[in-house]
Amino acid sequence: MLQIYNTLGRQKEKFIPLQKDKVGLYSCGPTVYNYAHLGNLRAYVFADILKRTLQYNQYEVKHIINITDIGHLTSDADAGEDKMIKALQREGKKLTPEAMQEIANFYSQSFFQNRDDLNILPADKYPLASQHLPAMIKMIQAIEKNGYSYETKSALYFDTQKFKNYGQLASKKSKNSEKNEARIEINPEKKNSSDFILWFKAKGEKRKHLLQWNSPWGEGWPGWHIECAAMSTQYLGQPFDLHTGGIDHIPVHHTNEIAQAEAAYQKPLAQYWLHNEFLVLDQGKMSKSKGGFITLETLIEKKIHPLSYRYLCLNTHYRSPLSFSWESMESAQNALFKLYQLTASLPKPSSKKIIIKIENDFQKAINNDLNTPQALALTWSLLKNKQFSPQQKIDTLIKMDQVLGLNIEKNRKNISKVPLIVENLSKKRENLRKEKKWEEADQIRQQIEKAGFIVEDSPQGPLLKKKN
Ligand code: AMP
Ligand code: ZN
Repeated sequence: MLQIYNTLGRQKEKFIPLQKDKVGLYSCGPTVYNYAHLGNLRAYVFADILKRTLQYNQYEVKHIINITDIGHLTSDADAGEDKMIKALQREGKKLTPEAMQEIANFYSQSFFQNRDDLNILPADKYPLASQHLPAMIKMIQAIEKNGYSYETKSALYFDTQKFKNYGQLASKKSKNSEKNEARIEINPEKKNSSDFILWFKAKGEKRKHLLQWNSPWGEGWPGWHIECAAMSTQYLGQPFDLHTGGIDHIPVHHTNEIAQAEAAYQKPLAQYWLHNEFLVLDQGKMSKSKGGFITLETLIEKKIHPLSYRYLCLNTHYRSPLSFSWESMESAQNALFKLYQLTASLPKPSSKKIIIKIENDFQKAINNDLNTPQALALTWSLLKNKQFSPQQKIDTLIKMDQVLGLNIEKNRKNISKVPLIVENLSKKRENLRKEKKWEEADQIRQQIEKAGFIVEDSPQGPLLKKKN
């Protein structure tokens, strides 16, 4: 039985899908004005683990991740500049719709490359906000018809006071990290400070914009929050099962998505709301707008395998902050490579010798609100257990890797590439060390070095690395 933590009730709940075997999953996608940083990618590794866990539980999953290529301002609360226009300025490009689409396309492609490098399963669809104006306008019209909006000179606003349950998602003891950094600016046009824009009017609006559309409220463009509400329901219906995003989306973006969809159609938007905690640096959360962020490309340049970052994410529960350091990154890489090394000499998987007890424990761990650290610990205890045969080990591990996504079968031979003779020397050295025969162990270490490898002692055991 799958249990997940639902931000709506702030508790773990049994997952009951709307349809027996099919599940709809929506994840807020990237705003494509810059490279995704490692924090953003944590959000998609988390969504991928959720999706794989659902699949492991035999559900057919329809996963939608949008691409925000319009309408996202530097503050989630409708203030500041348009992020896409800022990107054009940053890159010294002309302020034209074509240049804006080029930027969106460039950073979307980079996001897809990151996805593949992290072995994240592709979503069923990546709808572009700029291509879904009819769905957004239709939802705004329904909101207006039901009396939840008001019009000003420059925009059509959502009237949050009219919506009885406004802010329910964020209401129960919000943690500090959920609070939106951007203060809600005093805007004399608004009736309530939490009101937000459904439609920006081009006329009378000082903010620059390059792409605009006709609408019942005049030429203009949609607010950011209507994008996800409209695209998710277009592809998954309303209500759908699960909605994910980073914890920063709780107080504004997701709160507003819920208000709009319910005000339009008097039904909940999604049944379960799941949020990942931040990836943090010493200075605070990693953020695109503040610069100084680390990308997957930077890791690759530093010869860190992208799946080492996936391993790092899995080693911390998604609802705990993950503090990034180069030391922890290197330990994650060592652990992952050690996993590949220990599995390199195991036979071809047959899928016939899965150890039921271990598989059950694994399923219990991931079904307990995606407890990936515990699931990873199980892979180590399985590998170190001398009672199990090599065939049992590989068959069980490959099954677990359906969820972990560490690509064990592909990488165990490619990446480890340690000759058997060196591996045996390392085992011999380990035994000597256990017997406290330090001198003899050191002689073996020298033999290993002569063969072109160095041994590093890691918490998972000795790790063999090729000498540079
Ligand atoms: P964005 O491209 O800024 O719209 O964000 C894409 C996803 O990354 C959203 O789900 C955010 O909540 C999430 N996110 C942003 N910063 C971080 C961070 N430092 N750690 C984890 N998730 C983040
Ligand atoms: Zn969204």
